[in-house]
Amino acid sequence: MLVPNEPNASIVREALEGFGTGRFASQIEAKRYLDGFPDYGIQTEHGIRIQRVREMLECPAYAGYVEAPGWGIGLEEGQHEALVSFETHQRVLERLRGKTTAAFRKDTREDFPLRGIVTCACCGRAMTAAYSTGRHARYGYYFCQTTGCEQGRKSIRKERIEEDFETLLNTLRPDEALARAFHAIVADVWKAGHEVEAERHKLLKTELSQIERKSAALMECLIAAESSVLIAAYEEEVRKLQERRIAVQEKRAIKPERVIDFRLGYRTALSFIASPAKLWDSEHLALRRTVPKLLFGGRLPYHRIEGYRTADIAYPFKALQA
Ligand SMILES: [Zn+2]
Repeated sequence: MLVPNEPNASIVREALEGFGTGRFASQIEAKRYLDGFPDYGIQTEHGIRIQRVREMLECPAYAGYVEAPGWGIGLEEGQHEALVSFETHQRVLERLRGKTTAAFRKDTREDFPLRGIVTCACCGRAMTAAYSTGRHARYGYYFCQTTGCEQGRKSIRKERIEEDFETLLNTLRPDEALARAFHAIVADVWKAGHEVEAERHKLLKTELSQIERKSAALMECLIAAESSVLIAAYEEEVRKLQERRIAVQEKRAIKPERVIDFRLGYRTALSFIASPAKLWDSEHLALRRTVPKLLFGGRLPYHRIEGYRTADIAYPFKALQA
């Protein structure tokens, strides 16, 4: 019997959910997250092997299911405890199918947490960053690499752009009236969410009975079919329906009242709103990069002389103020 083995179970859960939601934009980002836990899995000198990361992402056992295609055993519910939902598992698979693995390059992103997020105030494209080696030391720079841009190739010291970002973060603190408004808004959204949830539950029930009817009809066709091509086609349909049934049943199992407790959800959101700078201090790159993504939608214009241009950005605090 498989049983969750902590702390590895939590590490794997975080990796799968992070990849499923897109917080880890690629398998490489998931790998880097796992590499941050030297005691997890088999670490080579380059960390966890990317092949192993892929196997982990594809593995249905983490969603509580087993399969052995080589032995003709399709997806079946296992006896063991799941780490993530089947829905998460399917989302991970979809993302794996949809995107190719980004080419591996030496990871300098730890050193440039704002790369790809800070944009050139002049042409609007994302800036890149690199090191340049001087006589005695190497210096980090961000720069616009657009051909023909007025600010193209003009470098901005890494220290300056990142310190400016911290200064910007520190100006983002809600006062008490804003915090109250935030609470009221979250409570409203929460209530609306519950109503939507109840409606969704009803729809799932309908869908489930449709699936049952279709399955029964398909099974009859399957029994009557004589050509092997037809049989294979029916079997494929049955398999798809079975997967869909699992997903729907699982969604139904989440009762509206079991959705995260309001106070807990509110506290998490508020602690971020109250001090985004704390999250920015995290040692995990993926978490750090969440900060500009959440606050500024992941695109933050910077001008070499004037600094950050946040006037046109609708970030949460401005939305609250309004
Ligand atoms: Zn530019």
